[in-house]
Amino acid sequence: MSLKVYNSLTKKKETFKPIVRGKVKIYSCGPTVYNYIHIGNHRTFLMSDFLKRALKFNKFKVKHIMNITDIGHLSSDADAGEDKMVKAAMKEGKSVWDIARFYTKAFKNDLTDLNIETPNKFTLATENLRAQINMIKKLEKRDYTYSADGNIYFDTSKYSNNKLGGLNTKSKSRVKKDPNKKNRNDFILWFTKSKFQDQEMKWNSPWGYGYPGWHIECSAMANKFLGAPIDIHTGGEDLKHIHHNNEIAQSEAALDRKPWVNYWLHGAFLIDKNKGKMARSSGDFITLSKLKEAGFEPLDFRYLSLGTHYRKQMIFSKTAMTSAKNSRKKLYSSYLDLRSKTRGSLKASKNGEKYYTQFETAINDDLNLPTSLAITWKVINDKKIPDNEKIYLLLRFDEIFGFNLKNLKPDRIPFSIKQLAEKRLKARLKKDFKTADKIRKLIKAKGFELEDTIKSYILKKK
Ligand SMILES: [Zn+2]
Repeated sequence: MSLKVYNSLTKKKETFKPIVRGKVKIYSCGPTVYNYIHIGNHRTFLMSDFLKRALKFNKFKVKHIMNITDIGHLSSDADAGEDKMVKAAMKEGKSVWDIARFYTKAFKNDLTDLNIETPNKFTLATENLRAQINMIKKLEKRDYTYSADGNIYFDTSKYSNNKLGGLNTKSKSRVKKDPNKKNRNDFILWFTKSKFQDQEMKWNSPWGYGYPGWHIECSAMANKFLGAPIDIHTGGEDLKHIHHNNEIAQSEAALDRKPWVNYWLHGAFLIDKNKGKMARSSGDFITLSKLKEAGFEPLDFRYLSLGTHYRKQMIFSKTAMTSAKNSRKKLYSSYLDLRSKTRGSLKASKNGEKYYTQFETAINDDLNLPTSLAITWKVINDKKIPDNEKIYLLLRFDEIFGFNLKNLKPDRIPFSIKQLAEKRLKARLKKDFKTADKIRKLIKAKGFELEDTIKSYILKKK
């Protein structure tokens, strides 16, 4: 069975074929580190994580690179955006370098909390100036650039690209037209004339003291760390029309017009049920810390993300989060319960094979996680499948879901609570329900939950 993914280049599902047999090179557009990442961004990073896991599930060896945009002014869709890093630094009374370091660390902590596998390398824009300058030099040598009012532009009349679509439809753009551009979609590769008065991050270059444009960062670092061409490029759908089309234009121009990326995968937006599309520019967004404050765990958000296909908009609400939290708890307790009852080998028998095949089919159908999650619950609830087989299947499925079930530890229950539970069981078996109810309430008040089974009970931490 082979993995199929939806390729934004061809706008259809295609069987994934790597450039080199058994190996996959992936580049993901990472965060701009002037603030915390919101959960809409995390949805995209989770998409890349599920994709990597699906590739490994299919026995591919994955090499994954993610950039960190630590030059704040590079964060806009166009070249005339505001310097978000300077703005953040001024607001917080720190240097732009401090801001970048602080939020890079916060971003990495978020990934750990969400069980997102770390890329093979994080590449920082500020640490790879040489690669960016070299790529601009290459483009200049091949006559794809021009200089205007101190800045170096990519000339889209020499090589235009709209393979991902949508490039000419930004008529409602908030960005004012740049009079130095020769063509509407040209973009800046190197600034020597900063539009920002207090630009702190500057470097020497053949074109003068300045800083790189945003798009060149990804092309240069992908090329430096993965070579070209590459198999897969991922990012949020907000980056598709401008940033990614421009990445393709400059990369392919530098590659003698050869194709640069074989598969482009884009994650859809997260929609707040009450407020609409989540964006950092609005200042009103939900972070992982805010979810924690509201009593959720980061992995509840991971569970929630499994419920909507990555190409569909995901509706976020507190009710949906609560439901994800409860389902995750139920998944954990089901697994622990099965494990406590299971001895011996964890091999699949023929009974479970149909489920395994169904699961694999769903995953390989452009990462159909909602279906694979439904299959997981069918396995748990199927009375015909032996417990040790269920464990085997759950652990295999978890290679995709990423809850780390294998290392899950049962909740530690204090001896005094266990004693109460035993006392209650005796009362229950004697049909003394009044006492049994009283003890159950007492257990609950101490922060534990009791679930009855036919002749016994399951004790859990609330
Ligand atoms: Zn990028």
